[in-house]
Amino acid sequence: MRYVSTRGQAPLLSFQDTLLTGLARDGGLYVPDAWPVFSAADLRALRGLPYAELATRVMLPFLGGAIPEGEFRRLVAAAYAGFDHRGVAPLVQIDQRLWLMELFHGPTLAFKDVALQLLGRLFDDVLGARGARVTVVGATSGDTGSAAIEACRDRAHLDIFMLHPKGRTSEVQRRQMTTVMAANVFNLAIEGSFDDCQDLVKAMFNDQGFRDTFNLSAVNSINWARIMAQIVYYVGAAVALGAPDREIAFAVPTGNFGNVYAAYAARAMGVPIARLIVGSNSNDILTRFFATGAMVPAPVTPTLSPSMDIQISSNFERLLFDLGGRDGTAVAATMERLRADGRFSVTPAQRAATAGLFAGWRCDDAGTRATISQTWRDAGLAIDPHTAVGVAAARAAIAGGAGEGPALDPTVPVVALACAHPAKFPDAVEQATGRRPALPARLGDLLQRPERVTVLPNDLAAVQAFVRRHAHLTGSVRETGVA
Ligand SMILES: *Cc1c(COP(=O)(O)O)cnc(C)c1O
Repeated sequence: MRYVSTRGQAPLLSFQDTLLTGLARDGGLYVPDAWPVFSAADLRALRGLPYAELATRVMLPFLGGAIPEGEFRRLVAAAYAGFDHRGVAPLVQIDQRLWLMELFHGPTLAFKDVALQLLGRLFDDVLGARGARVTVVGATSGDTGSAAIEACRDRAHLDIFMLHPKGRTSEVQRRQMTTVMAANVFNLAIEGSFDDCQDLVKAMFNDQGFRDTFNLSAVNSINWARIMAQIVYYVGAAVALGAPDREIAFAVPTGNFGNVYAAYAARAMGVPIARLIVGSNSNDILTRFFATGAMVPAPVTPTLSPSMDIQISSNFERLLFDLGGRDGTAVAATMERLRADGRFSVTPAQRAATAGLFAGWRCDDAGTRATISQTWRDAGLAIDPHTAVGVAAARAAIAGGAGEGPALDPTVPVVALACAHPAKFPDAVEQATGRRPALPARLGDLLQRPERVTVLPNDLAAVQAFVRRHAHLTGSVRETGVA
């Protein structure tokens, strides 16, 4: 198995190089050069497996022999051992045809943990084998920084420096980052905005000498290994509900399109997925795209589901690559049109290719609150605002109202993805249910734990000096390098 860039100009890479490289040199995203396909018998053989074993078998074909099977099995088992539900991604039925898949049982209470807990271990394993180190740098508005920190903490071959805007994250979000006492974790509270933090990270990557000296790296959502790890729970839900002998549909609250693209990948691998319902909040560029075939950005509006307050979804490029017959030159031309004209359209043939499979559904903040209330009333379950967008999309599809396409067959179960624990967004949940959701017991003392954080001015030289002083460099970094 080799990996190709969606823009067709970057070198083909092995799994390890794809993992460590992230964004391709031509600006594209890496995808496997062919989808491994599971036969009906292969899928049946996955029924009833423990999650870590299911995950090992689903992901193994993507490694191309890069990591020995036994070693990979150990990494996967370690990644999911810390989840507080033994099913890792359990299904809960909330209506006749509607299930929730709970993806928030990891250390930071959001679905990003499912991929990142494995990603950190894969980085460490590959870096260790090469005798190399990387320095992970990132910026967060509070939402996703903790998942990256938990993924990197205590790993032997990397350090992580996470920038957040001082005083502008919620206390729970800040403490999920700053109470991690690992020696390779550095929280930097920047006297500035989230945009300032992002600009500082970009400037560090653009400083070629600094970038090479410290082997800067990112664990962001375009990394192929994150998609790979997310394919697993789609396969698991499908076989649990009757695949390959019964079709299934998923409703996915979507931001960068990484999660729903993983569902698309599961389908490409042979899982009988009848429909993918793409849930958006008021930032509804994808809803409009699936209705019209035109990707037309609008200004970003803040909503109750901040992880979906996104306009251009970076992972959409991976779908575009497949829709256009895997023609990297055509994808590069489309991305250039987006840069030059601020928008693009797909051809009628490409649109036809998505029409039966994808359906877009928009749910604004009022709809989000109503869905949280309804789910509390009807099923006795508190759901977070992101999850609510997915549940609203699922209910619309069941009622026959989501997107174009034919109505869903009534025998098809619909699984909505629960992407965050309700206690991560307690204000919105309390407003809609009248009850404040409690943090799980293992985080119960979060507000009493000591914090470690360094306040720095919004100044590149100050941030770089801090990284220089604290990164655990080895002398050989520049020579060993990371492709
Ligand atoms: C990241 C995130 C999303 C969006 O997922 P994408 O893969 O970016 O589409 C939705 N909900 C929550 C809670 C998230 O953290």
